[in-house]
Amino acid sequence: MLALAFALGLLWFSLIEYVHHRHAGHRKAFGKLYRGHQAHHADPMEGRVQFVKKLVQRLPLVLVGTVVLGGPWLLVLGVHYGSAAVVGTLIAYLYSEWFHHRIHQTPPKSAWASWMWRYHFVHHFRNPKVNFGFTSPLWDLVFRTYEAPATKFVVREELADRRTGDQLGFRWVARRVRSSQVATMPAQRDR
Ligand SMILES: [Zn+2]
Ligand SMILES: [Zn+2]
Repeated sequence: MLALAFALGLLWFSLIEYVHHRHAGHRKAFGKLYRGHQAHHADPMEGRVQFVKKLVQRLPLVLVGTVVLGGPWLLVLGVHYGSAAVVGTLIAYLYSEWFHHRIHQTPPKSAWASWMWRYHFVHHFRNPKVNFGFTSPLWDLVFRTYEAPATKFVVREELADRRTGDQLGFRWVARRVRSSQVATMPAQRDR
């Protein structure tokens, strides 16, 4: 039963992850949260130091989130099981941050990771209105924002004058790319 309450916390956070990304990350009305996520779209690569800094900066938000989104579990399930659900929620949060960071930092090491990397890159480089889950496609499937990942991506290619280096504009090209390359390509912003 304790494990079940913990699993409930994991599932609960996966829903928060989806809703937070889809709305706070992609709607201008969310101000600072929106701008923070759009900065990630503009430059998905971040170093380890930046990652740790981000976690520290988010601490107040996480604390408030734990009280608001984890607190009700204590009321519903009681202190014993409610605490397990809150711990599950927090662990799922840390896992989500770490997993998303790795997607942009390292090549995938398993078939599942490879699939998740490409699934997230669809959101970054093809259509920012789909694939909001960072750790699974569950809620994208439920809310019909799922788009199957492909090995072929449509990427934005900057065109520059070879001689002077002046920007001439850009074009969209379909290209098969390695996942490690995709993360370094110019991001496709919200349209
Ligand atoms: Zn996004
Ligand atoms: Zn990302």
